[in-house]
Amino acid sequence: MTAPTPSRTYDLSFARYVYDHIDGGQRLKLCMQCGACSGSCPIGTQMDHGPRKLFMMIRAGMKEAVLTSNTIWNCVSCYNCVVRCPRQVPITYILHDLSALAIEEGYAEAKKADNARFAKAFWWSATVFGRTDERLVTARYYFSSGLGEGIKKGMANQAIALAMVKTKRMHLGMPHKVKGVGELKAIVAKAAEIQARHGKEG
Ligand code: SF4
Ligand code: SF4
Repeated sequence: MTAPTPSRTYDLSFARYVYDHIDGGQRLKLCMQCGACSGSCPIGTQMDHGPRKLFMMIRAGMKEAVLTSNTIWNCVSCYNCVVRCPRQVPITYILHDLSALAIEEGYAEAKKADNARFAKAFWWSATVFGRTDERLVTARYYFSSGLGEGIKKGMANQAIALAMVKTKRMHLGMPHKVKGVGELKAIVAKAAEIQARHGKEG
């Protein structure tokens, strides 16, 4: 008896690329599709696809769908999935590196301006407090695209904020400052001065 002809064929080139070039990609080969990652993800309901499904889409060669998915941007690095994965797949690293690949490959043009605004907000928090304050960075980032847009983004992302509080990725008290924040500011000012001098010297 001859074996039945498969009704579908898959392009494995994207999966091979991910295995070889994405941080942690080699361990993705060991994913057994148990779903523990998606089941434990506090942001799962805010993602186009949970990590388990996204990994199957990689195997199925669905490059565009993977790299345009909001899953790779909405992960908040809580590591719930990583500690529960029975195959030690570094899910968080994989999602983050896929977002870098999405930018490199031109699937996330709109994210470039977003990233620049986010970097500014991050830098502000790092220099004022010596660390990032998730709420203030997020608020500054959201409102950097205008008051109306900021309110809209804040409302749209309430569920993510609640999930972050629940998983202790966002605190609700006063902003924490590092000790010696004045010294940090002096270091940053000196670095800016050196950079400006080098700029002038060309
Ligand atoms: S928990 Fe690990 S093995 Fe299970 S689906 Fe997720 S990545 Fe795959
Ligand atoms: S690290 Fe990302 S993908 Fe994993 S559970 Fe947390 S939010 Fe979900």
